[in-house]
Formats: sequence, C-alpha cells, structure tokens
Amino acid sequence: MTPTAPPTADTHPPKSTLFCQDCGHQSPVDDDWILVATARGTAYRCPQCGADLTIRPALATTSARSQPFEAWQHLRHAWCDSVRAWRAMYLG
Ligand SMILES: [Zn+2]
Repeated sequence: MTPTAPPTADTHPPKSTLFCQDCGHQSPVDDDWILVATARGTAYRCPQCGADLTIRPALATTSARSQPFEAWQHLRHAWCDSVRAWRAMYLG
C-alpha cells in the first residue's frame, strides 16, 4: 500500500501569485503580503525586504470595478420592486 497523492494544481503556481522583484520572495496575493493603504490605493509590501510591489487602485479611480457594483445595485432594486409588488398582491 503506497499512499499516492492525487494530482493537484501545485504543479503550476496560482494566478494570483505575487513576486518581489527586489528579493525574489513569492507567495499568493492573499498570503503574507503586508497591505498598506496609500492615497493611490492599496500597496502590497514584501514581508521580507519591505519593498512595495503593486498598488491596487482605489475604488473611485477604476471605472471597471464600479460597473459590476452598479449592475448589482440595479438587480437589487429590481428585486425589491418585485417583492413589493408580490406583497401588495398578497396583502391586498
Ligand atoms: Zn522582497
């Protein structure tokens, strides 16, 4: 009986792996990076050498991010309207 490990996805790094160009440290985006809030957005600071990697723009500066939110708001509004209509039908 030999325990055989099932083939997992660890043969290639996940998409969201960050690399530090200064010291070569690498880990998933949600792992040990230090998040620093700056005026321009969120910076990912290397836990080993302290270098700032990428700055994720703040919500206000990205139009691409606000679009799904607006779509969600629209959907939520439509949902509330339909609930209100059903309630009106039910309660007379
Ligand atoms: Zn580093």
